Amino acid sequence: MDRTIVYAGALGAGAHAVAVRAGRIVGLGDPSTLCRRFEGKVVRHVRGRFLPAALDGHLHLVDFGLALGETDLRGLDAEKTLERLRAARAQGEGVRGEFLLGRGARPGVLRQLSERRDALAELAPLRIWAQDLHTALTDPGTARRLGLHRAETPGGEVVRDLSGEVTGLLRESATAPLAEAAQPDQASRERAARRAIEALWQRGIVGAVTFERADGESAVARATEEMPFHAYVYRYAESLQAGARPQVLSRRSVRVGAKYFLDGTLGSRTAWMLVPYADHPATGMPRLDPDEAREGMRELAGNGFSLALHAIGDRAAQEALRLLEGMPLAAAPHRIEHLQVVAEGFAQRLAQAGVTASVQPCHLEQDLAEARAAWADRLERAYPYSELLSAGANLCFGSDAPVEDPSLQLGLRWAVGADAVGGGVRHGVSVEEGLAAYTQGVLRSVGAQGGRVAVGEPANLALYENGPMQDAMPMLLLSEGEPVHEVAGAYREETL
Ligand SMILES: [Zn+2]
Repeated sequence: MDRTIVYAGALGAGAHAVAVRAGRIVGLGDPSTLCRRFEGKVVRHVRGRFLPAALDGHLHLVDFGLALGETDLRGLDAEKTLERLRAARAQGEGVRGEFLLGRGARPGVLRQLSERRDALAELAPLRIWAQDLHTALTDPGTARRLGLHRAETPGGEVVRDLSGEVTGLLRESATAPLAEAAQPDQASRERAARRAIEALWQRGIVGAVTFERADGESAVARATEEMPFHAYVYRYAESLQAGARPQVLSRRSVRVGAKYFLDGTLGSRTAWMLVPYADHPATGMPRLDPDEAREGMRELAGNGFSLALHAIGDRAAQEALRLLEGMPLAAAPHRIEHLQVVAEGFAQRLAQAGVTASVQPCHLEQDLAEARAAWADRLERAYPYSELLSAGANLCFGSDAPVEDPSLQLGLRWAVGADAVGGGVRHGVSVEEGLAAYTQGVLRSVGAQGGRVAVGEPANLALYENGPMQDAMPMLLLSEGEPVHEVAGAYREETL
């Protein structure tokens, strides 16, 4: 029989104590009343404040777990990147199969490295992802071995030097053969899913919307069968077999949607814009023709899939919304991912259409300088969190891990601090609004409810000493009532 556990002394949940049994909140109130109410309970004395545990509204669970085992190249210049990679090669770190694997490099650094053929050859075979996962680098030898020197790459680019030689720098869809060659086996994927979940628990997160291919989806399903972590899977549309449907995958995972890419990214200036960038004489790189994609989308939506459309530029956002406005409705609302710059009036239309605004404030950590340069003449329309919220759109916060660390603290800081974008308008939201976008906002986005501290709700609770803005991790995290993360001395237990 399940025991009742009374967490006593926690303030801030509108109560001084929370009673938990069989994975649910069964009582809220003052400690002595709750203790009198429940027979044979365990009392755990805590200090701090219970909040509803967060969910990440957009990440790549298996990729994040894999990234945790690869060489982290974030924030390094070209020389430091080479140094780090040489050390990793020498120590056999971040190697899977033959490939030396790196992550998080700046696209500009990859461009510089692509001119260092000899240095790259020493590290071969090599696969490095840029921070945004839309640009990759390999060594020239591996590029030839993969046949990239004669590959046709619609929707992407195999970058060549002045003499026409392949450099190893790959953009957008041209990264696929490299990703394929360096891909992990299924056992590594499952380990990665588990490692990712543990890392998310440490950050106070008990569930996520995750974007996966077929093999990633089954790794997520296996991991969530045993681990109390809820996964809402969106499959890359091209990875779905004809006739596929949304379905329950395991005890705590469900396939809810399908994802399409309309454009690229800000960093590589491939986000699809209405007018050319302020610092680049082009409007980006559309990744699909909306008119060609419409029928396929309609079929998936008709089969019950929620559609998630990646749109970073304002033109992509406009095309995405136009597509979604005409789609059959699924159990989970349709959604647009990223929305880093939007046209005037867009937020109202989005809200009216009931389309979720799935955004990742933590991207500003890397993007702020880029945005100020690329969109210098339209900053008031960039990162419009406040506008989306006041228009009545469902705001859903995520991290896009492994693109950025799925730290709740980092995300909230930028959600609140987004006014730094500039342009003379309010971009940011309050801490409370930010937390709601990490809890109720994510749940609403998958057609679910909850994300509150209330009797009858699942006991998904994070105990913070000060708060998620101040503390990098919670003292204690309960997922379905089970303590899945705790720091030493988080509570003192007493059996009554
Ligand atoms: Zn993503």
